[in-house]
Amino acid sequence: MSLAESKTNLLGLTRAELESFVEGMGEKPFRARQLMKWLYKRNVSQIDEMTDLAKRFRERLKEVAEVRTPAITLTQVSSDGTRKWLLAMDGTQGIEMVFIPEPDRGTLCISSQVGCAMDCSFCSTAQQGFNRNLTAAEIVGQVWLANRELGFQPGGDRVITNVVFMGMGEPLANYRNVVPATEILMDDLGFDISRRRVTVSTSGLVPQMLRLAEETNCALAVSLHAPNDRLRDELVPINRKHKIAELLEACWRYVEKQNARSITFEYVMLDGINDKPEHAYELVELLRGRPAKLNLIPFNPFPQTKYRRSSAAAIERFRDILNRHGVIATTRRTRGDDIDAACGQLVGRVNDRTTVRLGSKLISVAVQS
Ligand code: SAH
Repeated sequence: MSLAESKTNLLGLTRAELESFVEGMGEKPFRARQLMKWLYKRNVSQIDEMTDLAKRFRERLKEVAEVRTPAITLTQVSSDGTRKWLLAMDGTQGIEMVFIPEPDRGTLCISSQVGCAMDCSFCSTAQQGFNRNLTAAEIVGQVWLANRELGFQPGGDRVITNVVFMGMGEPLANYRNVVPATEILMDDLGFDISRRRVTVSTSGLVPQMLRLAEETNCALAVSLHAPNDRLRDELVPINRKHKIAELLEACWRYVEKQNARSITFEYVMLDGINDKPEHAYELVELLRGRPAKLNLIPFNPFPQTKYRRSSAAAIERFRDILNRHGVIATTRRTRGDDIDAACGQLVGRVNDRTTVRLGSKLISVAVQS
């Protein structure tokens, strides 16, 4: 391990952890608050710039701690304003992060793992397999970095209003790093994002969902994708272990424990596979009268996939059946198509930079080494 890596990355510490860290250095716990202000309210990464800390403390802090963010390999900006960053993790490994601006909010989609082990058949990350978990500091570091890249000004308007764990990886398979990261995102001394605007998305790890209900209070999204076990077993293999009935039980428990409004269910629209009227009626049976919202995601194709995106007409028909029968369903608008930033496309061109597609619709491309 190099000297740099042996230093504690301050971005990974929750308020309580930062307090014990500074106490361990013989300082008063309020130093942790001062540090958090520099880190999250002013976006400062150089300990030397944290001028209200005593010089002697800063010198000692520099010996044991630092602020380390993921390094940017490539930045792409889509014609619709969506931004995608390729981030180098260690050497050859990479993840992607996407920012989606909308008139009333700015959503940052972050990754929780390099690769993924869940093996969902329609997801491009699955093709890469699982590489490793991200640390809490690497997760928080994405948000910190995006703030800087998006020109966040201390005291100015928020640029990132929502954070979703819908990038690469299964967040609940990396529970011990994801949970502290959500805490830092929601802490008023941290990024201070409201709990309804930090969303963990899961393919359905039931035991971890039950634990999450007890231990945090962020929002939960569940990748459902099929209305019956036969089909879901095929699309989302974790279903072979935790069936739909068990999954939904955990969802309702989550809402109850959290006093949340609802669970968002993601449903990828695959042509001829899960997009027929009978599937919509099966979903009505599962979700009617429940605290559920359904988000229909047009499938985003990637090389070597056997699936196709459902037609706009099929998606509309599907949505109408649900809405007519009392299940709230909306269609997610596809964003960042021209830069492969859409859901499920967060992969792999990472490992071979020469194949990054620079489509004609691209407005600007900045390569950073
Ligand atoms: N592992 C987590 C979070 C990452 S995926 C989960 O499964 O929820 C974020 C969302 O994108 C999930 O709903 C996932 O099913 C969906 N997705 C994956 N591949 C996709 C694709 N090719 N097209 C559209 N959505 C996709």
